[in-house]
Amino acid sequence: MTFYDAMRTHPWRRLEGEIESRGSHDVDRALSSSALGLDGLVSLLSPAADPYLEELAQRAQALTEQRFGRVIGLYAPLYLSNSCTNSCVYCSFNADNPIDRLTLTPDQAESEALYLHEQGFRHVLLVSGEDRRVVSMEYLREVVGRLRGLFDSISIEIYPMDTDEYGELAGYGVDGLIIYQETYNRERYDEVHRAGRKKDFRWRLETPERGGAAGFRRIGIGALLGLSAWRMESLYLALHARHLMRLYWRSHITISFPRLRPAVGGYTPPCPVTDRDLVHMMTALRLFLPDAGLLLSTRESPRLRDHMIPLGVTSMSAGSKTDPGGYTQDSACEGQFQVSDHRTPRRVAEKIKEKGYEPVWKDWDSAFIP
Ligand code: SF4
Repeated sequence: MTFYDAMRTHPWRRLEGEIESRGSHDVDRALSSSALGLDGLVSLLSPAADPYLEELAQRAQALTEQRFGRVIGLYAPLYLSNSCTNSCVYCSFNADNPIDRLTLTPDQAESEALYLHEQGFRHVLLVSGEDRRVVSMEYLREVVGRLRGLFDSISIEIYPMDTDEYGELAGYGVDGLIIYQETYNRERYDEVHRAGRKKDFRWRLETPERGGAAGFRRIGIGALLGLSAWRMESLYLALHARHLMRLYWRSHITISFPRLRPAVGGYTPPCPVTDRDLVHMMTALRLFLPDAGLLLSTRESPRLRDHMIPLGVTSMSAGSKTDPGGYTQDSACEGQFQVSDHRTPRRVAEKIKEKGYEPVWKDWDSAFIP
């Protein structure tokens, strides 16, 4: 059974009704249970749990320290291309937006990589719009081949592929896959993805499973927060992550929490997520998924990111640019979205240390592969 089938056993409206009906006694029961199940998570994500935020935070902190220690992994995105064949209303790279399009040459990608390497990064995330005409398998093989000597871990966040293609990329040295469903709400998904292959909800939803079948060591999922009700997105994210953990237990499953940021097109999020909501969501998910990696990007402000360091986060991006060539090239072009944390990677690492945590630039070596 894929997660597409599993999702149908948890209809949106039924879960929504359950979340709304929970009271404080349900929250107390969930917090006193020794193993938090789906029913308990529904209670912890419900409006009735809003006054319990401090307790959720304390428990999330203790559990994260127990499972991961006091460490925060650091990584950086490297944007290869802003060319895209899809029309997502919330994104600057939307094919309908009249922006300059740029795809880095392998030489330019290598310059960007050298810059990030000098900053200290040993984990890089290759990002692009969804356009396999320019970011082809051949192009990826060339780029990954050049970067392999610089980074111990190379992840991708590009267009969804089939299992064979992922297997090929794994053979070149890619070890991680990030793919956001954007929203688990079918109607909203259809509404905001106006054209292109991305309209196919099921193809996208089953992408992490194809990555797992191909043997990626790290698989990341996420919902674009602001598109639909955050409590519901949290529930489906939790179910999705648990499904992947059971099927692909050799892979480390991570969850990202990207909140919508201003972008070309001026899309206004229909369901804004406050800082408090975000903390609620992350801490509740930590209690349900003690072993999941939780990622927080530079979409968030320095203040919030610093605050979240002890509360369940395991990895952060730093010093990010969201346009291709943004680190080293003169030709400025449109970024995918505006970042909020403009601190240098060194400054972010110092802040992590000030909070009593260890910044980790390298958490993997291919020599670990048996
Ligand atoms: S979100 Fe991704 S697929 Fe959609 S327009 Fe932006 S780059 Fe393209």
